[in-house]
Amino acid sequence: MNGISQIGKNIAGLWSLIVGLKITGKYFVYPHVTVHYPRRTVNNISTFRGPVELVASPNDPSKAKCIVCLQCAGACPSGCLTVAARPAPKPTPEEIQAKKEAEAKGEKVKKAAPKELGTFRYDFTLCSLCGTCVETCPVGSLQFSCDGYLASRNKQDFVYDLLARLAGQAKGGKSSSS
Ligand code: SF4
Ligand code: SF4
Repeated sequence: MNGISQIGKNIAGLWSLIVGLKITGKYFVYPHVTVHYPRRTVNNISTFRGPVELVASPNDPSKAKCIVCLQCAGACPSGCLTVAARPAPKPTPEEIQAKKEAEAKGEKVKKAAPKELGTFRYDFTLCSLCGTCVETCPVGSLQFSCDGYLASRNKQDFVYDLLARLAGQAKGGKSSSS
């Protein structure tokens, strides 16, 4: 009886092996859906949720849309964001003259903001990519980047100065120095 039982177990094991090999054989000849990173990368990751980055102002790509309301830093559950304002630069004589001319023509002149974004530090090592900061921003100044190929042995490489990164992107690069 024991011998028959053992034969049954062996047949079941052999069948399991055949089923497994059948699946392996089937996918062995399928076209690859992955690439051999880091030798190759893919460029179709536009929907990838990478580290948060600043959105550029439509008037100046080196500056952020940010109005320094600090809501994102307050809403972040992980304390990833350090945001600070600095006094806005004084208007140039040309800007003052242009403003006067516009006012003389009766045009509506937007009042210059007394402050601007001075610091936007983002610690990606703490970020859970929850999206709260992106959703909280009242002017759409934050978005997820498509950076899917981040690698470093140094933790500090993932602490970003997002203003410097934006300035680098405006120049055509992808600066993200800490
Ligand atoms: S995605 Fe979430 S955890 Fe990351 S910085 Fe934004 S609010 Fe903080
Ligand atoms: S919530 Fe938006 S506007 Fe306010 S500080 Fe953050 S990025 Fe700037």
